[in-house]
Amino acid sequence: MQFLTVLGSTGSIGTSTLDVVARHPDKYRVFALTAYRQVELMFRQCLQFQPRYAVLLDESAVVQLRDRLREAGSATEVLSGVDALEQVSIAPEVDAVMAAIVGAAGLRPTLAAAKAGKKILLANKETLVMAGNVFMEAVRASGSALLPIDSEHNAIFQALPHGYNGELHRSGVRRILLTASGGPFRNKSLGELENVTPDEACAHPNWVMGRKISVDSASMMNKGLEVIEAHWLFNAAADDIQVVVHPQSVIHSMVEYVDGSVLAQLGNPDMRTPIAYGLAYPERIESGVGSLDLFKIARLDFVAPDFERFRCLALSYQALRAAGTAPSVLNAANEVAVAAFLNNEIAFLAIPQVIESVLNRLPVNVVNGLDDVLLADSEARRVALQLIQNLRK
Ligand code: NAD
Ligand code: MG
Repeated sequence: MQFLTVLGSTGSIGTSTLDVVARHPDKYRVFALTAYRQVELMFRQCLQFQPRYAVLLDESAVVQLRDRLREAGSATEVLSGVDALEQVSIAPEVDAVMAAIVGAAGLRPTLAAAKAGKKILLANKETLVMAGNVFMEAVRASGSALLPIDSEHNAIFQALPHGYNGELHRSGVRRILLTASGGPFRNKSLGELENVTPDEACAHPNWVMGRKISVDSASMMNKGLEVIEAHWLFNAAADDIQVVVHPQSVIHSMVEYVDGSVLAQLGNPDMRTPIAYGLAYPERIESGVGSLDLFKIARLDFVAPDFERFRCLALSYQALRAAGTAPSVLNAANEVAVAAFLNNEIAFLAIPQVIESVLNRLPVNVVNGLDDVLLADSEARRVALQLIQNLRK
């Protein structure tokens, strides 16, 4: 029996995780569920999975959830605050932590779980983008098992040699082929991109996801963050990672070897596959995902990415090459710009403009520890907010 903490249980990844867990009551028990403030869904999840703890961040949501659970006779204890997120991630009873909070807010509890040597199912890519060296060092030091849940990285993990030790070229790998759907705006011209709306950006052709990652997919910042994520997970340099636009999202990524072999992982675009893989690794369990209907798919297309229309992708490679605090600055500026876009405060094409200006304004510092990351993150947020204020004037 594995005891799980699901960070971000009410989100897209969180609910898919619980869907898989519910299929295997003999294998997994939920120790804690956490969310920002979604009382109703959290209440139902608590009744179904009977966790020891539920954590909410919003104080009024905490009071409501406590009342409702008490009325329902539930034994789940409701905790609040950021410290509680860490507490339920490092508790001795916990075997594995699903890191599925969106954005920089996921960093602290995910890092705490790594330091505590928990098995980590990593969906929160922002943790690696912001603090890749700090996080990977914590994983190495504690001996945590780190399973990538992002579908592309899960595919790469599956296609790399078993027990891959972080030595890409010595393992016979020539390069990593990171696939991208291209998002809802794949075929839009720069002119057409000027007036796209948040709802259009969130209407992803293949995947149903939270709003932040949906906008990231539309700008291809998601792929940029994933390039940086792949760098840290697999010790791959920027030049070792080729983005391949593949609109069908059937091949989730590939690994090319020096002998010319290319290994790919295919499947329906459903996050329950990588989640089930991470939960059961090295075994395989039923995930609820049906067979891939190759006859219906019929064809697979591949196109080179367009760095002009999708500036965010170019900026991500630039930040990865600059190293140090540049990726945390990129990530923070992106989070602020995406929130402003979702709030109808700035245009879609202002997202890369804001990020580029913030990257140009802030120095690239060495990352020696978490404090360096958090400082770069807050500086970048401050500068990004200022720029957005000026854009609105
Ligand atoms: P989502 O918006 O659907 O869910 C986010 C979850 O985090 C919710 O439970 C929410 O309550 C919680 N949360 C939000 N802000 C918080 C805060 N400040 N403090 C604590 N909790 C907070 O997001 P999602 O689509 O499930 O994505 C989650 C993570 O997984 C992201 O990092 C995303 O990049 C990554 N990811 C998602 C997918 C996908 O298919 N959705 C695929 C790959 C990777
Ligand atoms: Mg992905």
